[in-house]
Amino acid sequence: MDDLQLLIDLHLDGSRQGPGSEAVTRQAISLSGLEASPDLRIADIGCGTGASALVLAHDLSAHVTAVDFLPDFLERLNAAARIAGLGDRIETLDASMDALPFEAETFDAIWAEGAIYNIGFAAGAEAWRRFLKPGGILAVSELTWLTHERPAELQAHWDAQYPEVDTASAKMAVLERLGYAPVGYFVLPESAWLDHYYRPMQQRFAGFLERHANSEAAMAIVAAEETEISLYERYRDFVSYGFYIARRVD
Ligand code: SAM
Repeated sequence: MDDLQLLIDLHLDGSRQGPGSEAVTRQAISLSGLEASPDLRIADIGCGTGASALVLAHDLSAHVTAVDFLPDFLERLNAAARIAGLGDRIETLDASMDALPFEAETFDAIWAEGAIYNIGFAAGAEAWRRFLKPGGILAVSELTWLTHERPAELQAHWDAQYPEVDTASAKMAVLERLGYAPVGYFVLPESAWLDHYYRPMQQRFAGFLERHANSEAAMAIVAAEETEISLYERYRDFVSYGFYIARRVD
């Protein structure tokens, strides 16, 4: 089994595949002002098994197009949407976020929790803008430095993994340069990392390793996750996800 299949196997049973929570999605909804509008069209990009898509479809008057390039995740979301009675409000789409098959000015909002880094924050904000109606909302969570200076170990890790990590002020400046007006920002609380993502994942490690007979590749994946968890636990004052809510301006 290759590494991607192993990662899918580790994450498929998670209710989410990155830091976040229902409360976090609701806080972003509240800052977005979308609650006031009927008949919304929303795209949830890099939706995983659909934690945020389910909240968006439940809380808003919205049709949600939930996009991911892993069909296994989309199947889980389809099943969860049916069980929640949201099957007619959530449509899944197997597509890559760097080649989205949408018409210009389709969506009232584009949502992406813990996913825009796959294309890059600036590249995603730039490429997706045209799919928003004028005045539409971009709502994305993104790994963010909380301080001007960071411990060297933390800096070196993320420089190697995702050099686009930056401070909120720098991310806001990117959004402004690309034709957005920032309307809200908040930092994800520790519970979104620990209670809703890392602890449930750690509970799946033993079963995962057993299913793969402690293969070298499976053990390397667990070790990489443990390294990331340990970094977060030690340096949580310096790094988190920031949630950025911005409006397309023309
Ligand atoms: N938004 C979900 C959540 O918060 O639970 C999932 C976050 S997970 C960290 C990132 C997601 O992006 C994964 O589901 C992954 O399959 C998806 N992804 C990665 N690269 C992608 C691409 N090029 N196109 C579409 N989806 C992609």
